[in-house]
Amino acid sequence: MPAPTLPGGRTIVFTDLDGSLLDHHSYSHAGAAPVLARIREEGIPLIIVTSKTRAEVVEIQREFGNADPFIVENGGAAYFPRSGPYRFLAAGEEAAGYRRIGFGRSYGEIRDFLAAFKSEEKKREIIKGFGDMELEDIMALTGLDAVRAGAAKRREFSEPFLIAGETDAAAACLRELAAEARRRGFEITRGGRFHHLLGAGQDKGRAVAATVKTLRGLAGGKITTVGVGDSDNDLTMLAAVDIPVLIPHPHRGFPAGTPAGAVRATRPGSEGWNEAVGKALDGLTNTGR
Ligand SMILES: [Mg+2]
Repeated sequence: MPAPTLPGGRTIVFTDLDGSLLDHHSYSHAGAAPVLARIREEGIPLIIVTSKTRAEVVEIQREFGNADPFIVENGGAAYFPRSGPYRFLAAGEEAAGYRRIGFGRSYGEIRDFLAAFKSEEKKREIIKGFGDMELEDIMALTGLDAVRAGAAKRREFSEPFLIAGETDAAAACLRELAAEARRRGFEITRGGRFHHLLGAGQDKGRAVAATVKTLRGLAGGKITTVGVGDSDNDLTMLAAVDIPVLIPHPHRGFPAGTPAGAVRATRPGSEGWNEAVGKALDGLTNTGR
């Protein structure tokens, strides 16, 4: 029996969710329906790369009818299903019914570091992590319902947090946290809505590069990768793919330091995703890559 090969042959699309495939405010993917249908028809793997948790991604995959590998919590880990072309993967470890390759520090270590940093009352008032918040706080901040907000709280490799106020004291506190994080083997990245505290060297690009390497063995030839994002925390992913695709943030536009030659959407969210990913896939078809 021949070894199963990657569906769709040689193109893989890696995508951020919030502000990219999902609209920033409504979390709708309706605007991306035509190109999502095309990706499904052509059997192109669509790999979610997000700051969301495994619990959140599994739910979203169910909505999309997607059963491809996925990368959670800003590159904290890549999860590969134990089915189809992925079922013979030996890399990583068994976790929650998947093969998991981990890249980050554990949530417990991250929370311990944050608790030590926030030993002063003043800092506790400025920095609020998901672990400090009630479910209702997260629902109010994100617009997620109780089930989704609960899934967002089930973290494994990163802590999203907010800085209270636009004051000089708040800015100074964030700088101090960043410096202390670096000393302790952690770092901070910025997503569309929150800052994220995570292990040093943990980012979407590193997880995407490792995933491509793992999947190359299943593809029987060259893989061409497309990566889609809208925020600072997507830049390492965009640098790790062949064809970077940028979606503008509805308020901040494109992040600074975006790669030259990226395909740029003219609209934010799922409509922009549809437009720009469609264009990237057309380019691949036309050049025969
Ligand atoms: Mg985003």
